[in-house]
Amino acid sequence: MNPNSRNRAQPLLIVGSVAFDDLELPSGSFPNTLGGAATYAAHAASLFAPVQVVGVVGEDFPESVLEGLRSRGVDTAGIERRAGKTFRWAGRYADNLGSRTTLDTQLNVFADFRPRLPESYRDTPFVMLGNIQPALQLEVLAQAKSPRLVAADTMNFWISGERPALCEVLAKVDLLVINDEELRQLAEDHNIKRAARYVMGLGPKRLIVKRGEYGALLFDQNSTFFAPAYPLETEVDPTGAGDTFAGALLGYLAQSDGLDEGTIRRAVMIAATVASFCIEDVGPKRLATLTQTEIAQRLEELSSLVRL
Ligand code: AMP
Repeated sequence: MNPNSRNRAQPLLIVGSVAFDDLELPSGSFPNTLGGAATYAAHAASLFAPVQVVGVVGEDFPESVLEGLRSRGVDTAGIERRAGKTFRWAGRYADNLGSRTTLDTQLNVFADFRPRLPESYRDTPFVMLGNIQPALQLEVLAQAKSPRLVAADTMNFWISGERPALCEVLAKVDLLVINDEELRQLAEDHNIKRAARYVMGLGPKRLIVKRGEYGALLFDQNSTFFAPAYPLETEVDPTGAGDTFAGALLGYLAQSDGLDEGTIRRAVMIAATVASFCIEDVGPKRLATLTQTEIAQRLEELSSLVRL
């Protein structure tokens, strides 16, 4: 990766949650950890491209955290500050980090979040619709002027509760990034390949299926590509790894000249690489110190895992 590529990257708009997380990890309790899907995605994407974030925080959210994001080239003008408390999520992980239980979700100011794109965000060519209510994802698209690429994430809650609105979103996105369980639920089919074909029939031209430590699959109409997950020796906190994957993917695409198959495959490998770093420390901490050299080295190791 050429470090100068970031200078000619196009901007990327990310919409999603900005949060405080209370994490119970095998290594201990970590209350008040900076979290939220948009936070992780913005940390990752800003390694590659200028980022704009649309979200909401409460009066309790430190200005210093927003300042930290700005110092990474993240435009925070779209993060509204409202009276009340910031969204808070509490989760406990199993000893093997393989599963987690949500202990508490306090929507707080996120409860009546209505995404408002500042005028300067409306022409942004790359849009990442984080996992929020599908109706709100549609509101973002209604405000964006013909983006070059729209990607979306979603979750089980919206798949079961808001399927019609979610289908409306899918009809408008180029790329859907979801995990394997969500894909199966959405397609009502256990077979990943059939499920992928079904979901692409709903709109997205491409689909990325995240399978945690088993890697990720990229589907389009003609081909399938596999990116392994980097086998880590030290796994600390998997929170936000999926959002990090999506942020790095879109960030890399925003700094690339084209959106051809080869570029997208490379973006998936880079996304898997950056997501692996996220897991090495609590919250987005590791992402904050990550360098291009570290990414390039690990990308090479990841590639060598599947090179004959
Ligand atoms: P992930 O591990 O990729 O599922 O992302 C975890 C992040 O999503 C945490 O930092 C949470 O703050 C955030 N989060 C958890 N539940 C929700 C929700 N219902 N809506 C939006 N963000 C959430």
